[in-house]
Amino acid sequence: MMKIGANKKETLLNRLMRVPFLLSGIRMLSLAILLVMVYYSYNYRGINGVSVSDPLMYTNIATFLFWVLWLMVVVLSVLLFGRMWCTICPLGWLHGVFSMNCLKKDYPAGLKNNFLLIVFTFLVLFGAMSLNVHRFPDMTAKLILIFLIIVIILGSIFKKRVFCRYMCPIGGMLGLYSRTGPVELYVKDNNICGKCANTQCINGDTKWYKLTMKKAVLMYKTEKDGCPLGLVPNDLEDKSACDLCMNCFEVCPYKNLNVRYRKGMPDIAVNRPQVGNALFAVILMGLVSINFFKVFPKLRGGIMAPADYLIAVIGGFTAPAAELFKAIYGSVLLPLLFVGAISYVTLLITRANIMTVDISKESDIPKELAKVKKGAGAAPDKPGFAALFTAAAFSLIPLIFSAHIVLALVKLNTKLKYFPYIFMDPTGVKTYLSFNVFKNFEQPGVIIALAQLKWIITAVIAAGFAFSLIAAKKITDTTMQSSAKIGKKGFAVFAAAALIMAVLYLLTVYNWLFVMGM
Ligand code: SF4
Ligand code: SF4
Repeated sequence: MMKIGANKKETLLNRLMRVPFLLSGIRMLSLAILLVMVYYSYNYRGINGVSVSDPLMYTNIATFLFWVLWLMVVVLSVLLFGRMWCTICPLGWLHGVFSMNCLKKDYPAGLKNNFLLIVFTFLVLFGAMSLNVHRFPDMTAKLILIFLIIVIILGSIFKKRVFCRYMCPIGGMLGLYSRTGPVELYVKDNNICGKCANTQCINGDTKWYKLTMKKAVLMYKTEKDGCPLGLVPNDLEDKSACDLCMNCFEVCPYKNLNVRYRKGMPDIAVNRPQVGNALFAVILMGLVSINFFKVFPKLRGGIMAPADYLIAVIGGFTAPAAELFKAIYGSVLLPLLFVGAISYVTLLITRANIMTVDISKESDIPKELAKVKKGAGAAPDKPGFAALFTAAAFSLIPLIFSAHIVLALVKLNTKLKYFPYIFMDPTGVKTYLSFNVFKNFEQPGVIIALAQLKWIITAVIAAGFAFSLIAAKKITDTTMQSSAKIGKKGFAVFAAAALIMAVLYLLTVYNWLFVMGM
């Protein structure tokens, strides 16, 4: 076997992840916690004699851990660990176990896109908002069970983790945010991969072990899957596609794969249009923003006014149908129109500049256009609508991420102090009664006072805007690489879009925290 990297010191993170059974132990522990959550919540909704409909929202182990702690911490974790949640995710791990040992069918080619991811994300968030799943332990337990059943069924039928790749809302969200994140998988030495005969990182590995006890000999095998997303670790251009599950890291016999910290959002600018990912980014922007504007009713009312008008004019909407219509309008149609308009304006600018290139002699023809003339391919400064739509959506990712961080910070700031109580009383019934009926304890308060929090939140949005500008610059440099003039105009359009969104977020923060005081 080739000897590699003997003199290269591994970082603490990599050394930790190579501790035998540590990662699998954490994954099993997280699955056990998920099952405990279901156990203590499946039969709990209200409390006899208490008129409040959702008393256990913050005191039950499932509603607290799922909606308050995990969902918020997972967003914040991208800042330090990229999408490393997927490294320890119990669903992904369980999916992998089933997909390695069951039918191993191919996933239909027609479904290898983001359609189901978008539908799934919308349904989960719409369900959470309209059915108030997040308020009730029994409904949260059912949602967890639905996810578990889906990954078991998909894992039993298909090879590879198709849920992670094509359906998981959290994976989709982490994939987008981690374009700005600081952690990536990398190959230590490409030559090693070039000479590798078995490519275990792609194909997986099977090892036989022999256990001898006196005369008894037990042979057993361990089987490890290769990349469960069907990626080739040595050839990963866009690292956000990798969910850092660490299969390749664990199975590579040469320890040639590592994770490392990185700077400069290298995955934000892509060479090819990624319409599916861009669509998902746009819808995520809609979902996060509509949630964000909830605390500024006048602004939200203004944004939603056309939907209310249409509902009144068309008539005949039941209450749930009206809610669904408003959700589709606010989270899908409106952000699509916004980003579509930005892309179209950029397209017009790009084309206008190309039409006005002044060519008086052959040598004036720009190099890239000359290539097109000879049929050598499209000029990179003539991106089509799909490329510009991807570019526009990706340039807004840091800003969307910052708005999501704010939502997470606010939630954790107001509710994190409930954390110790879920261990004392996992169902949350006694805790609720102690706080609200017997008044033995005081309700937990906030962690950071409003006076400081409002400035932290303002700074987070301002940072999101600044990073969106940096992203827009990187993206226009890549998408419109051969003309500085077009690149500058494209940047101006993307920057204006980021400014509009940042102003709306900041207006909301100002009204909510500086004027109304929460
Ligand atoms: S993609 Fe989703 S299910 Fe898969 S590991 Fe990540 S969070 Fe878990
Ligand atoms: S490239 Fe490696 S870490 Fe990334 S998804 Fe594939 S196996 Fe997991």
